[in-house]
Amino acid sequence: MFIVFEGIDGSGKTTQADMLYEYLSEKYRCIKTKEPTNSKIGRLVKDILNKSQNVDPATIQLLFTADRAQHVEKEIIPAVNEGKIVIEDRYIMSTLAYGIAAGVSEKGLKMMNSQMPAPNIIFLINIKPETAMSRLNTARIHLDAFEKIEFLKKVTREYMRLAKKAKNCFIIDGSKSKEEINKEIIRIVEAHMK
Ligand code: ADP
Repeated sequence: MFIVFEGIDGSGKTTQADMLYEYLSEKYRCIKTKEPTNSKIGRLVKDILNKSQNVDPATIQLLFTADRAQHVEKEIIPAVNEGKIVIEDRYIMSTLAYGIAAGVSEKGLKMMNSQMPAPNIIFLINIKPETAMSRLNTARIHLDAFEKIEFLKKVTREYMRLAKKAKNCFIIDGSKSKEEINKEIIRIVEAHMK
């Protein structure tokens, strides 16, 4: 079983992945993982993002995808094959939503990711960029907050468009309380286990 959380920073992905992991690991063998990873390629991606270097948007998505390809082969597929539940924070839909919002071709992005396994369940935590940003500490907020909010609005629109077309994707209202969201997620996961 492969479960993915998607959404912009501050939407609550980490919180919900942790709560779901805690719940499921009492009954099942689970792993919790995230992208970008801690591999060399993942660290390169994080380094570029942290320094906000002026990188071509297609190039950064190629790097995210390279990190993902290695992660899928080395961690996700082996864990699923061992019967574990894999809970992952960010996957292909992140590349699509952020890449398309930055002007990269949807077809090209989809092609790059076409060989990777589809998740059994995707949770898109939908939230207003203003709310998400206000939850993050100042260290995570860029100085160009206005530009950032405009871009995140585009990302959110892409996420919603993609989620409505995707199989097994559930759009979760991220403005509810952590506990309410957790309950909703557990209900959906348990229905899938039957
Ligand atoms: P992400 O992993 O998507 O960036 P986090 O789970 O790290 O988001 O959450 C960002 C911040 O918002 C954290 O301080 C977290 O405690 C808080 N938070 C998460 N979910 C909610 C919620 N439903 N309501 C209010 N605050 C939340």
